Amino acid sequence: MTLTVPLVSARNLRKEFHGQPVLDGVDFDVASGEVSVIIGKSGSGKSTLLRVIAGLEAPEDGDVTIDAKLTLSGGTRTADWSHGAAMVGMVFQSYTLWPHMNVLDNLVLAPRKVLGLSAGEARERAEAALDEVGMAHHITSRCTQLSGGERQRVAIARALMMRPRVLLCDEITSALDPPVAAEVLGVLARLKQEDGLAVVLVTHDMAFASKAADRVVFFSHGRIAVDATPDEAFHHCEDPELKAFVDAVR
Ligand code: ADP
Ligand code: MG
Repeated sequence: MTLTVPLVSARNLRKEFHGQPVLDGVDFDVASGEVSVIIGKSGSGKSTLLRVIAGLEAPEDGDVTIDAKLTLSGGTRTADWSHGAAMVGMVFQSYTLWPHMNVLDNLVLAPRKVLGLSAGEARERAEAALDEVGMAHHITSRCTQLSGGERQRVAIARALMMRPRVLLCDEITSALDPPVAAEVLGVLARLKQEDGLAVVLVTHDMAFASKAADRVVFFSHGRIAVDATPDEAFHHCEDPELKAFVDAVR
């Protein structure tokens, strides 16, 4: 019998802002090569969950295990913290690329600094990452010359530069027109298929969730109210709040 250990396992995550619970005891696992879509009303805690897993926000309590190593214990970073952090990449809604730099310079900045790669090694990595998102021909373009969809593909490539095993994507297509959004989401589906990358995606795109997600997680008031396959979540779920939410965004 093979035991599948989750790549990321969060237990009892608790986070408050101004005395209000935003993560109210969240348990959340990510398996290797799985696409999880997180949906839920604005303010329900979706971004906070991703930010806590990525280490951008410290929780008050909770444990996180990444690649079988405990990285947060009782909300506090452990000695294995950086080992886990290296496996997690994050992409945001608003373009966080440096506008005055070209695509290559944006991509090589962190790996040269953090991993100490030589210029040649970093460029090779950048070419491979851009190839994965279909942007190799834009390696010397200035970011200001790129369209919104192209910038998000570059932002994904930049996250790939650190060779993460899980990519956390927070509403990365919300500012894009539907066909452009579909292209960007197609890149994620391909990365899962070809590289076994786990993807956790906060989105309102129900079409993508139905088609490409392995599971749908519905967030409500800082808790996971539903965690199911897309078919169960969208067609067989009795949760009245989820039904109302899906009807509202459709
Ligand atoms: P979602 O991504 O589901 O819209 P968030 O995780 O961004 O929800 O936010 C959940 C709640 O936490 C919201 O009420 C938000 O105002 C609050 N919140 C998030 N980040 C902060 C912060 N840095 N300071 C204060 N309140 C915050
Ligand atoms: Mg959010």
